[in-house]
Amino acid sequence: MAGRSPIIWVLACLAALAAGGPTRAQDTAAQESAHRRAVLATLPQDAAKRVFGRATSPAPGPAQAIGGYTRGCLAGGVELPADGPDWQVMRPSRGRAWGHPLLVAFLERLAATAAQQADWPGLLIGDMAQPRGGPMLTGHASHQLGIEADIWLTPMPDRRLSPAERDEMPALDLVRPDGYDIDPKVWRPADRELLETAAKSPGVARIFVNPAIKRALCREAGADRGWLRLIRPWWEHRRHFHLRLSCPTGDHECANQAPPPPGDGCNELAWWFTPQALHPKPGPPAPPLRVSQLPPACAALVER
Ligand SMILES: [Zn+2]
Repeated sequence: MAGRSPIIWVLACLAALAAGGPTRAQDTAAQESAHRRAVLATLPQDAAKRVFGRATSPAPGPAQAIGGYTRGCLAGGVELPADGPDWQVMRPSRGRAWGHPLLVAFLERLAATAAQQADWPGLLIGDMAQPRGGPMLTGHASHQLGIEADIWLTPMPDRRLSPAERDEMPALDLVRPDGYDIDPKVWRPADRELLETAAKSPGVARIFVNPAIKRALCREAGADRGWLRLIRPWWEHRRHFHLRLSCPTGDHECANQAPPPPGDGCNELAWWFTPQALHPKPGPPAPPLRVSQLPPACAALVER
């Protein structure tokens, strides 16, 4: 095990980074604004999350994802409408329903496809990106380029939710409290169908789910298993999945991640169910990223 400890340390640090503080995807509006106030009180003026977090309009110009998934920004962002035929945007008070037009079009298509499945009357869309992308005051190490979105694993109700309901409604937890497997009382075949549909959609780079959800998908998938390669285990993600698209064609300053290793990944899950993975010790917080540490084209988007 000693040989693996550096890997575990790196993963534990990534867990702390991914958590990005106490905020969770399902936090209510009051919890979220309290977290934002607490973070703002400690940040230097040129912290990238402070500067990008206060932008309320998109950067003009052609749409462009700039930088990497955890160190980048978005020009020419567009907002996903709060309501569509097959989706509703959740937690609207956060102002994070922005994305590259490629992501918005992708979500509209995925919502329509999911709606054709009997048990998915539509999608509830969680955080996408800020109007100009970039780091966020709360939650999320990534979501910076406008090509990532959180999609709830709670089916859309058959009515339009009010803005207050969207800010408060809890999401279904699909994982057992001990984290070892899905909760069979909550997990449905439609959850697997939705994840399979998303993973098979062109343009997807990775999808992050809780390890227990990946374990269930590995168990339930039949002979057609190629799509499982893109489904990656990660902490949390028990009430939603994280969709990550590849860089849009022509966005030359957008840095793709290396593709996942070959295979369905189902034989590499054991570590995720060890005590150190299930209960990671948080490391010291990383120093806040400064605007000057982002690509120069990102700093230009927030210059006055
Ligand atoms: Zn996410």
